[in-house]
Formats: sequence, structure tokens, C-alpha cells
Amino acid sequence: MQIQRNASIPSAKGPEEHFTGSVRMDMRFSRPAPARVGAVIVTFEPGARTAWHTHPLGQTLIVTAGLGWAQREGGPREEIRPGDIVWFEPGEKHWHGATDQTAMTHIAISEAEDGTSVNWLEKVEDGDYLG
Ligand code: MN
Repeated sequence: MQIQRNASIPSAKGPEEHFTGSVRMDMRFSRPAPARVGAVIVTFEPGARTAWHTHPLGQTLIVTAGLGWAQREGGPREEIRPGDIVWFEPGEKHWHGATDQTAMTHIAISEAEDGTSVNWLEKVEDGDYLG
């Protein structure tokens, strides 16, 4: 057994090449093989969002605070709220983030395939983000 104590890892900033706006990441972990699950708590300030991306083995989001938006390619932009559990299928192109007026926090859980759990694509333009 291993216990990763709360606040034992410094908060990290979401890198500019993969995120728009201010994004903070806390308590990231990824388990060694044969396990492959990893997770991170992500907080998006108002207006902040991921770039478009896919996950080779899918991704589950558990929204824990605020109000956010998420969209899969070809689908409508949808509100996500605390308590919602969102599933993106393997290879499904999507983005997620805060709304333009409210912050949002989620726990993001995904599995790695050959060491990769996300494939980053282009930034989400304001027009797509604002719907
Ligand atoms: Mn995702």
C-alpha cells in the first residue's frame, strides 16, 4: 500500500501548448505496469479549456466543482456540473473546460496505451468554445 498525501505534490500549470487560459493540475498519478490507470485533478479558471484531443483508451471525468462545458467533435457543447460523470470513448475527439463565466474542477481518469494517455490536437477557437 502507498498513500499519496494531500498536497504532497506541487500544483502544476497546464502547459500553454495544450490549454487555453489558466489551468491548474493537482495530485497527478499514474500507476506502474501492469496497471495503466492515471488521474489528475484539473481546475479551469473562467474561459480556460483544453485543446482538442483524444484518449487512446478513453477518459472518465468526474466533475467536482463549478460549471463547465464539454464537446465531442460533431456534437453540441454541453454543460457539465458537479456530480456528473462524463465518458469519452477511445479516439473520440473532444475538449473540456470551464464556462466563460465560471470555474470548473474535475477529476480526470484515463488509462495509458504504450505509455500514452492523450493525443493533443489543435486549440479550441473562441467561436467553437462560445458555441
Ligand atoms: Mn479529455
